[in-house]
Amino acid sequence: MLNFDHAASTPAHPDVIRTVAEVMEAHSGNPSSIHRSGEAASRLLDRSRGVYAAALGGVRQQEIVLTSGATESNNLAIKGTLLGRGDGRKHIVTTQIEHASVTESCLQLEQLGMETTFVPPEADGTVSAEKVLAALRPDTALVSIMHVNNEMGAIQPVEEIAQLVKQRDPKILVHVDGVQGFGRVKLELASSAIDLYSLSAHKVRGPRGVGVLYVRSGVRLFPLLTGGGQESGLRAGTENLAAIVGAAKAFRMAAEGLEQRAAKMTKLRQLLIAEVRRHDRLILTEPRFPAPHIVHFTFPGLKSQVILHTLEELGVLVSAQSACAAKTEKPSRVLSAMGLSREHATSGIRLSLGDEHTEEDIRQLVDALDKAVGLLAPLEGRKR
Ligand code: PMP
Repeated sequence: MLNFDHAASTPAHPDVIRTVAEVMEAHSGNPSSIHRSGEAASRLLDRSRGVYAAALGGVRQQEIVLTSGATESNNLAIKGTLLGRGDGRKHIVTTQIEHASVTESCLQLEQLGMETTFVPPEADGTVSAEKVLAALRPDTALVSIMHVNNEMGAIQPVEEIAQLVKQRDPKILVHVDGVQGFGRVKLELASSAIDLYSLSAHKVRGPRGVGVLYVRSGVRLFPLLTGGGQESGLRAGTENLAAIVGAAKAFRMAAEGLEQRAAKMTKLRQLLIAEVRRHDRLILTEPRFPAPHIVHFTFPGLKSQVILHTLEELGVLVSAQSACAAKTEKPSRVLSAMGLSREHATSGIRLSLGDEHTEEDIRQLVDALDKAVGLLAPLEGRKR
C-alpha cells in the first residue's frame, strides 16, 4: 500500500521506536520518586525537555508543557486561558477552519457563558489579518489560529496576526495550532509574538499520545488536569517517559531537516499538481500560500468516500477531509467556509506527503489516480 495520508499520522521513525523500547526497558522509575531510579528518570525527562526547547528554535525549557497530544494542548491553551480569570474577559476569536479540538473547546466554553467569533477564511484559504482585528473586542482574551490547515494546506499569516493583535491589545493571548506546520514551514517561535503553540509528535514520525504546548514565560493558564503537580502544575499525571524521550528525537529530526524536507516535498508537490491538472474533472484547491506536504482536489459529482475507496482498491491510501472528520458524509466545513458549493465540499480528497516519498511513489500515485478517474468518471452525478 502506498500511504499518501501523512497529515493524518506518520509512520514512527525506526530510531524513535528503538528509543522508546530502550527507555521502557531501562527506566522503570517514576520521575517524581526521590530514589535513584526516580532521579534517573527525572534527569532523562529534563534532558528531553532541553531537546524539545531546542527543536522549537531555542525557547526556554520551562516554556515546554508535555501533554498527551495536540488535542490536549489545544484544550489547555483555550480553556486554560479563558477559565478562572478575574478580569471579565470572556471572548475568543478563532476561525471557521480550525481542527475540531479548537472548535469544540470554544463551543464547550460557550456553554459556560463565553463567546466566540469564528472568522471565515478568504476564498484562497487564507485568514485575513484585517478580519481578525475587526473581530477583536475589549473583552477578547484569546485569538486562536492554526499555522497550516490540515485539510487543504493553507499556511496562515500567524506571526503577522500575532503582532497586529498585540499592537492593538497586549493583554490578548495568541494561540497557534502548529501541528501541520512544525517541521514543514519555518517559524521563529522564540522571537515571535505568539504566546501558545500546540504540537503533536505523531505528525512528525514520533509516537502517538505525546504533544507539547509551548507556553511563553509569564503566561498563566488554568490547569485542566490537577493532581501531582507535574509539568509545573499545568498538567498532572505520571509522565509517559519512554514516549516523551522518543518524541524528543522525532521533534529534533523534524526541526533539523526542515529546509531540505520542505524543498523535496515542494518539488514532489509540483509534480503531483501538474498531473492532477491534466484531468479536467479534478478541481485543485489552491491555497494562496500552500504548505509543502498537502495537495487537495475535488471531483464534483462524486462523494469523497467513493473516490477514497476506489484509490484504496488501487493500492493508495488518501483522506477525505481530516482524519477525525473522515467518517462523516457531511460537506467539509473547511471547504464550505471557503465558499465552495455543497457539490464540491462533499467530493474533496486530500493527498499528504511524507519525508520518504520519492518521484517513483508520485508516479505510482498518478497511475492510480488516472485509473480511478477512468473508473469513476462515468458514475459522476449519479451519487449526488
Ligand atoms: N490540530 C491539527 C491541525 C491536526 O491536524 C490534528 C491531528 N488530526 C490535531 C490538532 C490533533 O492532534 P492529536 O492527534 O495529537 O490529538
